[in-house]
Amino acid sequence: MKAKKFWSNKKVLVTAGPTKEYLDPVRFITNESSGKMGYAIAEELNNLGADVVLISGPVQIQHSFPIDKIIHINTAQEMLVESQKLYAKIDTAIFAAAVADYRPKIEEKQKIKKVENEMQITFVKNPDIAYEFGKVKNDKQLSIGFALETNNILENSTSKMTKKNFDFIVMNSPNEIGEGFGFDTNRISILTKMKKIEYFKLKDKKEVAKDIVQFVSQNT
Ligand code: C5P
Repeated sequence: MKAKKFWSNKKVLVTAGPTKEYLDPVRFITNESSGKMGYAIAEELNNLGADVVLISGPVQIQHSFPIDKIIHINTAQEMLVESQKLYAKIDTAIFAAAVADYRPKIEEKQKIKKVENEMQITFVKNPDIAYEFGKVKNDKQLSIGFALETNNILENSTSKMTKKNFDFIVMNSPNEIGEGFGFDTNRISILTKMKKIEYFKLKDKKEVAKDIVQFVSQNT
């Protein structure tokens, strides 16, 4: 099916960017995600007439996505709360955020003082936003995830697909300069639930976003 016909009026949730996990009011753990991939997908879907809500971690990028359709969050827990409000209403969820796997167990109310020569921080697992959608989604809803793997990419992506109940998984392994985190370009392949794989060339993330939304419309 043509991408425009498929996506027009579909309700889509896109998550994008990193999360920030606080140690105290002024310190946090985060990652290098720029948000470019998620924003490019949200923009492309918006251009195709989809009704997109973008739940975004802190990013600093130029974009043309309508700002009134962005929900800004900092932590993984906040991203989960905002996402769960939409799970029953959406047709498709695209999980492009680089959610921190762990957060500090204790978020101190006051700034931590430097007293000892060493300090230890205990981390606890963050909620998995895609996994939570996978548990409640119905047969008509689509879930699309990303897998950034440095090794055994197909094996790891396949098990991720099962665990999180994804219908599609966008795979990339940042082995070469220009691919993935922080860059404007990405080289992806897409795996479907039926184990079909399509490989794409290294492209600008805006073009990658077009490939993803087109592939989903043609393989659903
Ligand atoms: O397990 P892993 O982090 O590699 O899974 C990546 C996929 O799961 C991505 O689509 C990411 O957005 C999503 N994810 C999530 N919540 C987490 C961790 C990952 O939604 N806590």
